[in-house]
Amino acid sequence: MSAKQVTKIGVLTSGGDAPGMNAAIRAVARTGIYHGLEVYGVMRGYSGMIDDDIFRMESRSVANIIQRGGTILKTARSKEFFEYEGRKKAYENLKRRGIDSLVIIGGDGSFRGAQKFSNEFDIPCIGLPGTIDKDIAGSDFTIGFDTAVNTAVEAIDKVRDTADAHDRLFIVEVMGRDAGYIALHSGIATGAENILIPETKTDIDELVSSLSEKEKRKKLVNLVVVAEGDEFGGGNEIASIIRERLPHLDTRVCILGHIQRGGSPTCLDRLIASRMGYHAVECLLNGKHNVMVGILNNKLHYTPLNSAVKAKQKISDDWLKIVKILAS
Ligand code: ADP
Repeated sequence: MSAKQVTKIGVLTSGGDAPGMNAAIRAVARTGIYHGLEVYGVMRGYSGMIDDDIFRMESRSVANIIQRGGTILKTARSKEFFEYEGRKKAYENLKRRGIDSLVIIGGDGSFRGAQKFSNEFDIPCIGLPGTIDKDIAGSDFTIGFDTAVNTAVEAIDKVRDTADAHDRLFIVEVMGRDAGYIALHSGIATGAENILIPETKTDIDELVSSLSEKEKRKKLVNLVVVAEGDEFGGGNEIASIIRERLPHLDTRVCILGHIQRGGSPTCLDRLIASRMGYHAVECLLNGKHNVMVGILNNKLHYTPLNSAVKAKQKISDDWLKIVKILAS
């Protein structure tokens, strides 16, 4: 905790983009301006800090963006920011403008960078979890997850219609390299037969025998949802195993890909982004520095940036049991 008074806030979006980031930028800008602070938008994440691509934001700079996907500040991954020299350059640009604090909307990688930067140059940083994967501990929600999962549900419902019409088995691959939350939630919500996620060991023999057993008792099976980071690989890899072991099934693959990142944010994502953005500025004003603002059990929850980095959310055994029972 530091007592350093802040007067000029920089806001940036970094790492993977997520719907709802604009709503968070808007909330940071408007809350900052409300409190009489100067707010600066930093373009392209840490790259813009290094290249001095920074502009003063007015209340109107964030008009008409709450409903838009993507991020008006754009986002990027910056190799230079991994190096001390790059971070020093970024600091000098902030210093020249008098920017004395930062709000970073991004994932755990961005928080790792923020923590390092803050330790080195004494710039208070606040993190807002912006990631479609919901893979950060300390918050029940991350900005973008709800939109991504709803996009997946909508797409999977459509796939199911065609699967049903042709009696095909569809393997639908959704995003999630390290975290299976999009697969778990969209799979449950669409009544998938099986859901394969990186957090649990995939028993391929069990998958094949359950598909064939259900087929024998004429249960219509047409949907398996797999996260891209499942240990057996994504949709194509799973489908090729099933085709080999159950050649009589008409097995198809659908990879949803980047559509899950785009689109207008859901109401929930707009709400949490607005709430978190507002509290990010409150934190800076109240001397609560270097934390990630999260929401746990509908209450604000502050996680030190370095812990937000390390931990991942655990998938509860309850969910896994529900998947098994409801698919039987
Ligand atoms: P995300 O924030 O979505 O997890 P990344 O892991 O790609 O995305 O991180 C975004 C950016 O944060 C990186 O491109 C880099 O500039 C910065 N960053 C990540 N990890 C570190 C680190 N250990 N040290 C310094 N900067 C980092």
